[in-house]
Amino acid sequence: MLTVIPTPIGNLGDITLRALEALRSCDLVAAEDTRHTGLLLKHYEISKPQISLHEHNEAARSGMLIKDMLAGRSIALVSDAGMPAISDPGGRLIHSARQAGLSVTVLPGPCAALTALVGSGLDTERFCFLGFLPHKAGRRQRELAAALARQETSVFYESPHRLGKSLAQLAELDPERQICVARELTKHFEEYRNGRAVELLAHYTEHPPKGEICLLIAAAPERRRATTPHSTPCDAP
Ligand code: SAM
Repeated sequence: MLTVIPTPIGNLGDITLRALEALRSCDLVAAEDTRHTGLLLKHYEISKPQISLHEHNEAARSGMLIKDMLAGRSIALVSDAGMPAISDPGGRLIHSARQAGLSVTVLPGPCAALTALVGSGLDTERFCFLGFLPHKAGRRQRELAAALARQETSVFYESPHRLGKSLAQLAELDPERQICVARELTKHFEEYRNGRAVELLAHYTEHPPKGEICLLIAAAPERRRATTPHSTPCDAP
């Protein structure tokens, strides 16, 4: 069987009892970076063999791991941080395991995109997660323009080095739109900064951002609710 285990995105305390139990009871941990996961296992005094599974070897390794699981071994899949297969390796192994009829259990847990969305204060009822913004200016511009047209909150992963470029493009494309930069979530310097792109650009030009970042763009105005940003199921008509 395969157990997909989310791991902390910064704060080592953010791991569930079920995740620890699954790590303790599996036969083998398939990890994006075995050194990185080694530190987590050590912190929780778990001694377990590991095998690396990253974007460059996932295709080849998956076949071998499927054979192992068909032979009865239980494998725990982890990435460096957060939910495996979300802008991280693991999706191919999960697909192959399902194809092979193996049992796949996914444990709920940390994910930067969802944490940022909820903490941003933007509309959480409808959202679109788009992974990393493209590096090239033209493709990035198209992706940002598409996000601005969307009638739901857009959530991107972004690097601190490119944040300024994205904010500058957003400021040109839609000077009034509300943006949120969610940085270093669950860590000592956690920060949510909301505002118009030009305001955020001014801030981060003066204080160059460090660490890990999610960039969120509010829904196009037609969708945004002026008075009731957070509805509950009971509010539904
Ligand atoms: N699978 C992970 C998850 O579930 O969140 C995401 C992995 S992706 C390779 C890493 C990116 O997620 C970072 O570059 C950053 O954009 C975002 N990220 C991860 N940890 C974060 C944190 N603590 N605060 C803000 N963004 C974070």
